[in-house]
Amino acid sequence: MPYEAVIGLEVHAELQTRSKMFCACPVVDSTQAEPNSAVCPVCAGMPGTLPVVNRAAVEHALRVALALECEIAPLSLFARKNYFYPDLPKGYQISQYEYPLAEHGLLRIETSQGEKTVRIRRVHLEEDTGKLIHMQDEEGRSFSLVDLNRAGVPLLEIVSEPDMNTLEEVRAYATALRAILRRVGANSGDMEKGVIRFEANVSLRLPGSSTLGTRVEIKNLNSFRAMERAIAYEVERQTALLDGGLPVRQETLGWDETAQVTISQRSKEEAHDYRYFPEPDLPPLVIEAGRIERVRASLPELPQAMKNRFCQQYGLNPAEAALLSEDEAVAGYFEACVSQAKSAISPRTIALWISGEIFAWLNQSGKSIAQLAVTPAMLVELLRFTGDQTINLNTAKVVLAEMLTSGSSAAQIIAERGLTQVNDTGLIAEIVADVLAQNPREVEAYHQGKTTVFNWLLGQVMRQTSGRASPAAARAELERQLAALKQD
Ligand code: ADP
Ligand code: ZN
Ligand code: MG
Repeated sequence: MPYEAVIGLEVHAELQTRSKMFCACPVVDSTQAEPNSAVCPVCAGMPGTLPVVNRAAVEHALRVALALECEIAPLSLFARKNYFYPDLPKGYQISQYEYPLAEHGLLRIETSQGEKTVRIRRVHLEEDTGKLIHMQDEEGRSFSLVDLNRAGVPLLEIVSEPDMNTLEEVRAYATALRAILRRVGANSGDMEKGVIRFEANVSLRLPGSSTLGTRVEIKNLNSFRAMERAIAYEVERQTALLDGGLPVRQETLGWDETAQVTISQRSKEEAHDYRYFPEPDLPPLVIEAGRIERVRASLPELPQAMKNRFCQQYGLNPAEAALLSEDEAVAGYFEACVSQAKSAISPRTIALWISGEIFAWLNQSGKSIAQLAVTPAMLVELLRFTGDQTINLNTAKVVLAEMLTSGSSAAQIIAERGLTQVNDTGLIAEIVADVLAQNPREVEAYHQGKTTVFNWLLGQVMRQTSGRASPAAARAELERQLAALKQD
């Protein structure tokens, strides 16, 4: 039976501060730093130490919450979430529970079905845990090491309402949220470093039903791919259960990356399992109205607003605009090209070259747009050569590929390799006449109505010029001579 999937996401984003959430330890890159090199009595959970709230973390949190159009609580409370685990030396995590920093936000996402609004339930501050590293000794005995560098790193938790129904919506939501986190400078968006982690809540229901089905929660999803696979797997698993007349059990699951299956970790914990209570060592977090307005005024143009502007100002369609506005550096590159081109080349043409050839090259080379050897001025120069018929489009792609690897200019490459387009109609006419004379059977077939032969003949003409003939001129000349032959 076809069920409707209902999905809500909890996203944990590390905040890019210099020091940790409640102590002065530096935030270090956990993939680089010596284990336990950024730890003090506070984040190691020593008795008698006192936490102090990091102002910069609150600032980042406000920026994200306002970008998500949340209401900011004038007063929010930190709370202790009690549980035991070796990577949590205090025996509790300082989080926010009943009184979070922000609530009732929204995020607009773009899918093939159009725009959709996903409501944000809450945005709150908390601290990250340490990391366990599991190993084996020479005799094969398992043991674990703990690295507390990450313990106490500021985390922002962003919880959506269960408003998503498809993988496409989940992807769009995660992408849009990551873009906002990066744009306001709260998070690098560097998924490989684990600075954004997802938890997906998934349930099924009959289409049209307004009650929610029993959900599972899948923990520790560290990439978009893992999240999508895990959700797809759960939808299938739950469908099979319901089809078989079996109930879905409310539980917490993990994702096994190797086996590509979800695995049961524990029955779902309830809030009372954590014995939440207000953190006695921290005062309430008070946010004055003036501060909210200052932060709001300091926000940059957000990806969504930029996307809409790109549509209106440059005539891009929403999908093209979304591609170019998600990353600030890409957007900057695009707009620099547009202003260099001074309306000689349409913004749409520039957009297509960036999202086509340039993106493909970035993907393949693993480089970022900031490392591109081709500056906006260089790309515009190349496109001018196509605009004025110096080179044709296929040649331009070849030239751009070489520009990207060598860093040479288009003019240099075109001159060195003699790639200038052949526009000489006399020369093109000669080549066409040659090709027709050498292929009488194809000409005959064409005249008997086999029109597909035309493209083959055109291909021969292009080959004779090493692809440099103006395709428009070659096509016109071929049509003219074929028609003339028929009349004879
Ligand atoms: P917790 O996971 O800590 O118990 P909540 O109960 O507030 O917290 O739910 C967390 C997430 O689960 C939210 O993103 C919410 O949208 C989502 N969620 C709640 N109920 C369902 C459901 N029946 N199906 C899918 N997602 C759900
Ligand atoms: Zn510390
Ligand atoms: Mg949860």
